[in-house]
Amino acid sequence: MKVIWNNQLVERSAVVIDMEDRGYQFADGIYEVIRVYNGSFFTMDKHIDRLFTGAKKIDLTLPFTKTELQKMLSDLIQINQIDTGNVYLQVTRGIAIPRNHVYPDVANVSPVFTASTTIVPRNQEKMNSGITAITLPDTRWLHCDIKSISLLGNIMAKNEAYKQGKEEAILYRDGKVTECSSSNVWMIKAGTVYTHPDGNLVLPGITKMVLLEVARKAGILVKEEAFTLEQLKSADEVFSSSTTAEAMPVIEIDGTAVGTGKPGPIVKQLQQLYLDAVEAQCGK
Ligand code: PMP
Repeated sequence: MKVIWNNQLVERSAVVIDMEDRGYQFADGIYEVIRVYNGSFFTMDKHIDRLFTGAKKIDLTLPFTKTELQKMLSDLIQINQIDTGNVYLQVTRGIAIPRNHVYPDVANVSPVFTASTTIVPRNQEKMNSGITAITLPDTRWLHCDIKSISLLGNIMAKNEAYKQGKEEAILYRDGKVTECSSSNVWMIKAGTVYTHPDGNLVLPGITKMVLLEVARKAGILVKEEAFTLEQLKSADEVFSSSTTAEAMPVIEIDGTAVGTGKPGPIVKQLQQLYLDAVEAQCGK
C-alpha cells in the first residue's frame, strides 16, 4: 500500500516524520477522513472545503490547491485499489526549531502532508443492530468546529465508554447535548428529528450535512436545535452520524433502552436515504 507524503506517492516505510514537527509537538494540524464507495470518493468536495476552512481558521497555508489535492487522493485510491474504504489525511504546520508556541513565519516552514488508505466495508450488521452509549460532560475546548488532530478530549471520552463496555460517548455542555466523541448526535421525538446546530461547539459533520439534505427532501421534519440531556433520555430514537459509520442507531444510553431498544423507523429510513445518496454518487 502506498501513502502520500509531502505530495508524493511513496511506500509507507519511506515516510520520515521529524520529532520537531509541530504536529508531533503541539498537535498543530488538521485532518479529514473521506469515504470511498465502489472506487469513488463520496462528498469529496465537502471534505476538501472543510479542510480549507479549518486551515484558514488556524492560519495554516495548505501546500496544495483543491484540484491538486483531489488529484493526489484519486491517484492514491487508484494505486491502492480501494473499492470501499477510508482515506485519512492530515496536514501539520511543519517542522520548526526551536520549539516555540508562536507560529513560525510561513517563509521558514513547510506544512507536512500525509495521507493513507484502509479497506473498510460498510458495517451493515452494526447499522442494523445499533450501538450502546454513555453520556459524559463535554470537557473539550471551544473550537470543536476545527477538525484538529488534537483529540485528547475526544479519545478520553471514547475510552471511558469502552472501559464501561459501551461503544460511544454522547457529550453534553451546560445541560445541552453537543455531539459524540467521534460523531454528531441526533434524537427523534414525535416524528421530528433534532441535532445541534453548527457553531463552535460541534464539528460541522459532512454526514450530518448530507442527512439534513436528504431528510428535508424526503419531507421529514428536521430541526437544527440543541436539546437537553433529559430530552435525549426520553427520545423515541437516537442515532449518531459520521463518515465511517453513516447513520448509526443508538439503542441504549447509560444502561437504559432508547425507545423500544431497537433501531426505530425514522433512523432506518434515513439510513436508506443516505445509501441512496451514496449510490447516486458512487454507483451500486
Ligand atoms: N464530530 C466529531 C467529534 C467527529 O470526530 C466526527 C467524525 N470525524 C464527526 C462529528 C462527524 O463528521 P463527518 O460526518 O464529517 O465524518
